[in-house]
Amino acid sequence: MNETMKQRGANASVIREIFEYAKIRKSQVGEDGVYDFSIGNPSVPPPVAVTETLKELVCDEKIHGYTASAGDPSVRRAIAEYINAEYGADERAERIYMTCGAAASLAITLRALCNEGDEVIVFAPYFPEYAVFIEAAGAKCVAAKPDLKTFEPDLDDLRAKITGKTRAVIINSPNNPTGVVYSEKTIRAIASVLRERSAEYGDVYLISDEPYRELVYDGAKTVYVPAYYDKTVVCYSFSKSLSLPGERIGYIDVTSGCSDDVFYAVCGAGRSLGYVCAPALFQFLAARVIGMTSDLSVYERNRRALYAALTGYGYEVAESKGAFYLFVKSPSGDAREFYERAKKHDVFIVPSDSFGLGGYARVAYCVSEKQVADSLPAFRKIIEEYGERNGRTQ
Ligand code: PLP
Repeated sequence: MNETMKQRGANASVIREIFEYAKIRKSQVGEDGVYDFSIGNPSVPPPVAVTETLKELVCDEKIHGYTASAGDPSVRRAIAEYINAEYGADERAERIYMTCGAAASLAITLRALCNEGDEVIVFAPYFPEYAVFIEAAGAKCVAAKPDLKTFEPDLDDLRAKITGKTRAVIINSPNNPTGVVYSEKTIRAIASVLRERSAEYGDVYLISDEPYRELVYDGAKTVYVPAYYDKTVVCYSFSKSLSLPGERIGYIDVTSGCSDDVFYAVCGAGRSLGYVCAPALFQFLAARVIGMTSDLSVYERNRRALYAALTGYGYEVAESKGAFYLFVKSPSGDAREFYERAKKHDVFIVPSDSFGLGGYARVAYCVSEKQVADSLPAFRKIIEEYGERNGRTQ
């Protein structure tokens, strides 16, 4: 047996553990008494057009067979055409590889790019599964520091951490867990560091993990990353934009600045991992509904309400303009203690240590507006208790 795999399976992710515990509490005290902000499971239903198209497709006897390993050509064409129209890009259908969501997109891409002993840089705080996928590809996960004021990457640290072993850098904007949307200036600056270091050490690829691409608020815009750095591989998923996380559908775009060999490596990695022919029903669905999103206005209202209330109570919260997460500083600086104290009020948040940075907690606000409103007195009580412990009332 493979010991590493056994350990991975036996030790569930912290997020899932908290989510499961919140479910137990709901069965004990009732749904309304538990404020579960643990997991990024969209609460908003998929667009009606999505469910209607699905009903139509499911009855189409012709679409349930195997597709090509990389996906049905007409689906890949529809996706490339959409990207080109939306971003003024020049991507090719032949370079799109359909996957079971962003997780599979990342696992395949990392396997395609890395050799044993390579390094991949991520920015703390980061999606914990990055480390799992990087290690599975035989590489080492190297975390670069964030700028703690903006939660954008610290570029000096990035520059210092790129060595001859660095094969790729992963970015994720809009970001899980901070909700931060990288500015154009930041993307430009990251690209410039990568170009500078690639000239010294050979190609460093940029993997742009974009499951939250459409989830931006207050006029924020996501930048089309390949326009700034040509060795970019985009890992996309329909999980969040269409509220279909359980259906497992996404794609890899080996963008036009990468060589054909990178796409062959993606096909080889997909094959060796058994990730071929993503679910046909959802491939065809994706092609038909591309560009649609669920009603994202609920997240926008939740974000506003929570941000205003939490900062009003005295919490420090990162300025979030995207995804559906708030990154809240622990009033004592201890993430685990914050989580434990919140748990006593049946408020479930995720301590930031699991994202590779101590001192904060992630609040996933992809929940009902009622849950947000009902949870506010508990959030107030939690910070008040910190004040009482310090001998003062807030
Ligand atoms: N990347 C990030 C940053 C995520 O937050 C998630 C899921 O929450 C994924 C990748 C995986 O997405 P998917 O459900 O499409 O596999």
